[in-house]
Amino acid sequence: MINKEIPYKIYLEESEMPKSWINLRAFMKNKPAPLLNPKTFEPITLDELSNVFCTELARQELDDTSEYIEIPKEVRDFYKMYRPSPLVRAYCLEKLLDTPAKIYYKFEGNNTSGSHKLNSAIAQAYYAKEQGLKGVTTETGAGQWGTALSMACSYFGLDCKVFMVKCSYEQKPFRREVMRTYGADVTPSPSMTTEVGRKINEEFPGTTGSLGCAISEAVETASSLDGYRYALGSVLNQVLLHQSVIGLETKTALDKYDIKADIVIGCAGGGSNLGGLISPFMVEKIQGEKDYRIIAVEPASCPSLTRGKYAYDYCDTGKVCPLAKMYTLGSGYIPAATHAGGLRYHGMTSTLSELKHQGLIEATTVKQTEVFEAAQKFARIEGILPAPESAHAIKVAIDEALKCKETGEEKTIVFGLTGTGYFDMMSYQKFNDGIMKDYIPTDEELQVALSKLPKI
Ligand SMILES: *Cc1c(COP(=O)(O)O)cnc(C)c1O
Repeated sequence: MINKEIPYKIYLEESEMPKSWINLRAFMKNKPAPLLNPKTFEPITLDELSNVFCTELARQELDDTSEYIEIPKEVRDFYKMYRPSPLVRAYCLEKLLDTPAKIYYKFEGNNTSGSHKLNSAIAQAYYAKEQGLKGVTTETGAGQWGTALSMACSYFGLDCKVFMVKCSYEQKPFRREVMRTYGADVTPSPSMTTEVGRKINEEFPGTTGSLGCAISEAVETASSLDGYRYALGSVLNQVLLHQSVIGLETKTALDKYDIKADIVIGCAGGGSNLGGLISPFMVEKIQGEKDYRIIAVEPASCPSLTRGKYAYDYCDTGKVCPLAKMYTLGSGYIPAATHAGGLRYHGMTSTLSELKHQGLIEATTVKQTEVFEAAQKFARIEGILPAPESAHAIKVAIDEALKCKETGEEKTIVFGLTGTGYFDMMSYQKFNDGIMKDYIPTDEELQVALSKLPKI
């Protein structure tokens, strides 16, 4: 094997960038269970799904046989403006930890939305435009997805209506202004402008909202307006598909230097970034070509993969979206107002759920204060101010590197650094002031929403 010197940053040439997304489901022997119609509990059809999503995206959602799906040229042209994203060797962090492990991170924060979300937003806006729609509606938690979709919609000249989880709307006023700068219309959720929002406000007075509520509001709004469809930033299989660009670039960059990853780590909210990052690695694992340890990291306050049930559940609080079989805390679960807004979702994408069920991936939880300790350590030594969500992966990457220090193993660790934390300074402030608290729900608390899972 050639021993090339590994640069701090491994970039790809334009010609090395992926021309197709990889569809992980097509390689799985046991596929994720089908989405169900929320009224009939029968597998949802393309026609039914096309009332919610634009038709091409509905088709992608249901496609579990095409191994590769071509990335439209318009989308690839947009990708070229901010991709390939660098794969960075964390030499300074390795030195600080005094570990024999080799640590790499794939950095997705190099665009205005501040996260990986733009990879799917631009694809979703493209297909909506192709279909001749006027606009799209969506929800946003921490604000990254709303920003990404606003950017993508303004690029293609589409209208964009965003329902933003109320606690984020209040904590992150500048996020809202970024979205408005790109021409989006932003409403705090639960709002009084939709039927489902009014109902949730009545049932849970003073609620700070959740992604599940905001999704219901966005779906209701899309279906009541002519020429609009709903767009979702994670959880769905179509989003994992688009995010596979992260994994494909990572794999190409590693292969270029004959590097074999041992452990791949990512934070998991709805699971799209991790699903995208691991796609090409998991394909090799499924085909028995190579083995990888894959670790999903969730917040202790919203532990769907680690403490949820693997069952059919609604994807939203208002029960208007299709049902998915997934690890879930129950669609009525409203997590504590933790700071990692992007990880406050009650379920986990059906693909990662099925992989977890088959024992092909591991999952672990970390507490908020230890996440911020890791974030601070990383910021001080590697220079990048990480998003709190991303810092979940940093924490576990550091832990794994420290284990290598004990055992003397030179493992190669790759983790997804999904974004930057400039809009999370209220959370950093709490941490810096020493007043940040950890919240771990009790089994009894989790049982409340779990006991209301639909019986299917
Ligand atoms: C949305 C978001 C996440 C969560 O991503 P999923 O794909 O839903 O798991 C992680 N990090 C950042 C920075 C995000 O914006």
